[in-house]
Amino acid sequence: MLSARQTVSREESVMLTEYQIEALKKKLDERLDELCEEVRRELLDTEDQTYIKLAGQVHDIGEESVADLLVDLQLKEIERHIEEIKGIEAAFSRIASAKFGVCIDCQVTMELERLEAYPIAKRCHRCQENHERIYAGINRSSM
Ligand SMILES: [Zn+2]
Repeated sequence: MLSARQTVSREESVMLTEYQIEALKKKLDERLDELCEEVRRELLDTEDQTYIKLAGQVHDIGEESVADLLVDLQLKEIERHIEEIKGIEAAFSRIASAKFGVCIDCQVTMELERLEAYPIAKRCHRCQENHERIYAGINRSSM
């Protein structure tokens, strides 16, 4: 295994610095904690014993993926949170593979501004717009 430091190619245009990535990672960590806490509270609110038991596990996730744990619940209220948790977990794995901040479509390093506003972004602004246009087009033509 190479360390992230060694695998980062300096030939790419503008790479994020380790310091910038650390700061964004901290942001993601905090957001994940927040989300887990919210999901936990929502599970407790259901007054369903199965969910209440699960709420305890959300608090102590360890190696377990929170999203995997919750994905089968199909609770409308927390579905949105699960989507965001999944996004954060995906961002962590991109950080681990030194691909964080790189657009999955055009491979260009995203602007720090975009990542600060939306650290789980997978695409640069331009590609995201294209993606949404295509996606919306599919929805519209479905009838
Ligand atoms: Zn792009």
